[in-house]
Amino acid sequence: MGRVTVSLDDLPLRDDLRGQKPYGAPQAPLPIALNVNENTHPVPDDVAADIVDSVAKAVTGLNRYPDREFSELREALADYLGHGLDADQIWAANGSNEVLQHILQAFAGPGRTAMGFAPTYSMYSLLTRGVGSEWIAATRGSRFEITADDAARQVREADPDVVFLCAPNNPTGTPLALEVVEAVYEASHGIVIVDEAYHEFAPADTPSALSLLPGRERLVVSRTMSKAFAFAGARVGYLAADPAFVDALRLVRLPYHLSAITQAAATAALRHSAEMLRTVSDIVEQRDRISGTLDALGYDPYPSGSNFVLFGGVDDPHDTWKRLYDRGVLVRDIGIPGHLRVSAGTAEETTAFLDALAAIRSERS
Ligand SMILES: *Cc1c(COP(=O)(O)O)cnc(C)c1O
Repeated sequence: MGRVTVSLDDLPLRDDLRGQKPYGAPQAPLPIALNVNENTHPVPDDVAADIVDSVAKAVTGLNRYPDREFSELREALADYLGHGLDADQIWAANGSNEVLQHILQAFAGPGRTAMGFAPTYSMYSLLTRGVGSEWIAATRGSRFEITADDAARQVREADPDVVFLCAPNNPTGTPLALEVVEAVYEASHGIVIVDEAYHEFAPADTPSALSLLPGRERLVVSRTMSKAFAFAGARVGYLAADPAFVDALRLVRLPYHLSAITQAAATAALRHSAEMLRTVSDIVEQRDRISGTLDALGYDPYPSGSNFVLFGGVDDPHDTWKRLYDRGVLVRDIGIPGHLRVSAGTAEETTAFLDALAAIRSERS
């Protein structure tokens, strides 16, 4: 139909976006999708029915804009997080990616810098560049660990406006000790974000950076309903911080950014948080089974406090990725030479992955 196509080079794109690559985890309709760290268990039927009821009520009111302050959802999220948090310390948006974007829009922007410890979540640098800030890649130890002294030193030297700490880290699974958060906060003059997207998968006695919030007005802890909570498709992420910090985010969000449907669905899901989280222990069991089996197969799995495992010892990651793909198993080639990342699925999915990998291993040897 008379479609004229030009290349990106023909458009007046911002200079600082030229040559950048968009976030690109492949989405392929394979039977075993273990590539983006979702909870692969479906929403339980009774919870789904209650969510549908709540959404149905919201639908009749869609002629009106939603509650701009999403008060009921914030109350529910404050209750869920505990730690004595109040609703005015909570912010939410369409996925924690949007929450992180709000933080960068308010506290980074042109002429400012944001830092993370590479390899880490690829969206941090994309979001940073998206708001016109400079990305600084700090380094980790040989097994991707971060120590308090080394992290504080790197933060002191670069003095970034925003620091990202991913706890546990994606894509490596590496847990993060609270003393690192404390040291980085002391060393920094800017905002310190602790991204606890996978916190629910850590051992039950793992302290959250939420416990460090009192008296630290530049500290913010972000969470998501996308992972343990099995709600990735609904797009709900949130954070806890000082009420003044939350106020700042109102300057940059779009009006009514959380739809009435999203608010209703998320609030309903949170009424069933225990049930929504019931699969976590099973997923952790599958994660540990993955680590044990990979080790037995001669790969090099890294310790993980999340629902995925990074493993080294992969001679040709792209070839292994493709052979798994051809067997209907989607994992993630995150671009670390010699490594692949796999999410823990249901017992059946996990078995399918491990069997496929063992078959590939024997084909190649
Ligand atoms: C998956 C993930 C998120 C969640 O993103 P949503 O936008 O909430 O789906 C945030 N941070 C990290 C490190 C992640 O891996």
